Amino acid sequence: MQPVLVINDERFKQHLEQVPHLENARRVKAVQSVLEDPSLNGKWAELVPRLATKEELALVHTADHIERIAKTAGKPLSSFDMDTQATEKSYDVARLGVGAVFGLLDEIWTGKANRGFACIRPPGHHAEPDKAMGFCLFNNVALGARYLKEHYSVSKIMIVDFDVHHGNGIQSAFYNTDDVLYVSLHQFPCYPGTGNFGEVGRGRGEGFTINIPLGKGHGARDFAGIIHYMLNPLAQAYHPDMILVSCGFDLYMHDPLGGMTVTPEGYALITFFLLDIAQKVCDGRIAFIMEGGYSLKGIRECGLRVMQELCDVPTLNRKQIEKVTGNSARKLSAVRKVIEIQKEYWKILR
Ligand SMILES: [Zn+2]
Repeated sequence: MQPVLVINDERFKQHLEQVPHLENARRVKAVQSVLEDPSLNGKWAELVPRLATKEELALVHTADHIERIAKTAGKPLSSFDMDTQATEKSYDVARLGVGAVFGLLDEIWTGKANRGFACIRPPGHHAEPDKAMGFCLFNNVALGARYLKEHYSVSKIMIVDFDVHHGNGIQSAFYNTDDVLYVSLHQFPCYPGTGNFGEVGRGRGEGFTINIPLGKGHGARDFAGIIHYMLNPLAQAYHPDMILVSCGFDLYMHDPLGGMTVTPEGYALITFFLLDIAQKVCDGRIAFIMEGGYSLKGIRECGLRVMQELCDVPTLNRKQIEKVTGNSARKLSAVRKVIEIQKEYWKILR
């Protein structure tokens, strides 16, 4: 097996340095400690990221937005909303995050690796084409998908977003187009307020946004079950060339911002079933890109299980897997509602 490519650069600690914030440098440190785990020895390789250019940022963002962020460079503190700030080096760090995603996708698309994990910050999925919000400056994953289209003419990309919050920025970037299939599992109602069942895309994009809003308290088997029962057939019907994952660690049971009950084992199951889909539909090409997650213990414990699955270090037994495959996710009322709405666009759900 090719080593799993990992991005984990010291420079990601330079965003919001000295500013007390939930989205802080210790999150990167938590991932570093995961990578030192002996079980992962020799199974991953580091990829050094580059900075994305302004032209590349314009693949998703407006010139005004890029300028607004660029102007924060060198200033001790700039604020976009109550929870979204930039410090002296944030502009460069945010461009490094985007460049990291590009680099990872280059390697995977050209066959130098199959899987990767990008530990980057700030996160991206709340960043709108014209607005920074929700700790996010540039939309890393949306830019990654656009980059694949622009540079390699990749025709079909599936984005799976399992951060506890809805990825409003990714949804906005692709709402009117069938270029990308965006699927989000998230807590609802919750920040940022978008992501309800009826948000399915518009015009040519109708049916290419799939929102799976879930009430508080859902756990490992619910998430893994939905991935296995709904995302698997959807992916087989859509047949993407690559899968990008917006990987939030805030589904974790003790996350200070989320209300879900996912255990580290749950993260292993979620990863296992996503890898299974990638194997079936796109020769295993899959990139995990870090979004939120604010419990350091959660990042360490769930991050380890995600990395172990990516590195093919077996940690799940057959019984744990069968508890997911043997239980129909249709029991969940949210799943039945999503199917009711989306079956108009996806025959496979009928
Ligand atoms: Zn989140």
